[in-house]
Amino acid sequence: MSKINKASCDCGAVSFEIRLDAPNVGICHCASCQKISSAFYASVTYKGEIEFNGNDYINTYNSSAWATRSFCKQCGSNLFYKLKETPEYHISAALFDDKSNFTLKTQMFTDIKPDYIVLNANTENMTRQECFDKWG
Ligand SMILES: [Zn+2]
Ligand SMILES: [Zn+2]
Repeated sequence: MSKINKASCDCGAVSFEIRLDAPNVGICHCASCQKISSAFYASVTYKGEIEFNGNDYINTYNSSAWATRSFCKQCGSNLFYKLKETPEYHISAALFDDKSNFTLKTQMFTDIKPDYIVLNANTENMTRQECFDKWG
C-alpha cells in the first residue's frame, strides 16, 4: 500500500502531501538543473494534480518551451519542474520528509556533469544526446 508522503520547502511556506509508491529518483545534470540546484537536480515524477498549501509563495517561470520550474519565493527552495502540456511534475526529492523508500534509478545529461560531482550509485545513465533522442 502506498503511503502519504509529506513534503515542504525549507522555510515551510509551501507544503503538500501526495501518495508515492516506492518512488524512483532521477538525477539531471543539465546546465539548467546545475544552476538552480548548485550541483544536480534530483527529482521524483508524479502524474496528477497536486494541492499545494502556500500557493502565494510559489513562483514559476518558463524554463523551456515545454516546461516550467517553480520555487519558493521566500526561501528559494526548488519545488518542481512541470510539463506544460500534461500535469506531470518532477518534484525535488529533497522536499520530502521521509525518503527511506526512494531509489536512485537514472542519471541524465551525464556527459556534461562537472568532474567534481562523483556519484557511485549503479544507475541507468543517459547522455545529452540520448535524452534528446528519447524526449525530442
Ligand atoms: Zn520556502
Ligand atoms: Zn535538467
